[in-house]
Amino acid sequence: MAVPILAYHQIAVPPSHTAPFRSMVVHPAAFHRQMEWLKRLGIQGLSLRDAMPYIRGEKTGKVAAITFDDSYANVYENALPVLQELGFTATNFVVVNQIGGSNVWDTPIGVAKAACMSVEQLLRWHSLGHEVGSHTLDHVHLPQLPMEEARRQITHSRELLEDLLDEGVSSFCFPYGDETPLDRVLTYEAGYSAATTTRRGRARPDNDPFGLPRATVRRNDSWLHFVKKCVVG
Ligand SMILES: [Zn+2]
Repeated sequence: MAVPILAYHQIAVPPSHTAPFRSMVVHPAAFHRQMEWLKRLGIQGLSLRDAMPYIRGEKTGKVAAITFDDSYANVYENALPVLQELGFTATNFVVVNQIGGSNVWDTPIGVAKAACMSVEQLLRWHSLGHEVGSHTLDHVHLPQLPMEEARRQITHSRELLEDLLDEGVSSFCFPYGDETPLDRVLTYEAGYSAATTTRRGRARPDNDPFGLPRATVRRNDSWLHFVKKCVVG
């Protein structure tokens, strides 16, 4: 049974036509419709942690994992109420040194500044049963770093989140989808159970749990595009 792992970034009114990476901003109304389509198709939206037994083939059922990269405050504001309304859970991948900060890693490429969730927002997200995963300390290109720094980005981000949440952190997301076999090993050694990439496809029991494919949802995805990501390929 293959499980789609949906990847979202910002849930907000998209910026001007010329803004770079505008396609990564999904309108709140579109997000709401997409979640309702899942519900109507009988697909339960789950955090990656909750979806892993289905991905490993230990459980069967119609599920989709819902993930948000970068921990934007607009996900808290615009996506969380929808998830609550429909009884879905989701995973939020946090850039740990930017909790309460912003997407500073995007500024050099001209992406508009956007706030990241505060400590209070993260704790509330977590208290409602949603998952908090790590997206490193600083949103780095892991393969470009010396091994010890890559290890620190992967391991220390997990430790800090576990201290904050007082709970184990099991999911990791490679920034930019950038990873090597060594990065996967470091992620395993740090104690995570799963890691996601930006490779396209649905997750299957024979996938490396430290290199799970995902389906990125873009601003202008049509109904057909979205449903195909959820039920095909
Ligand atoms: Zn990211």
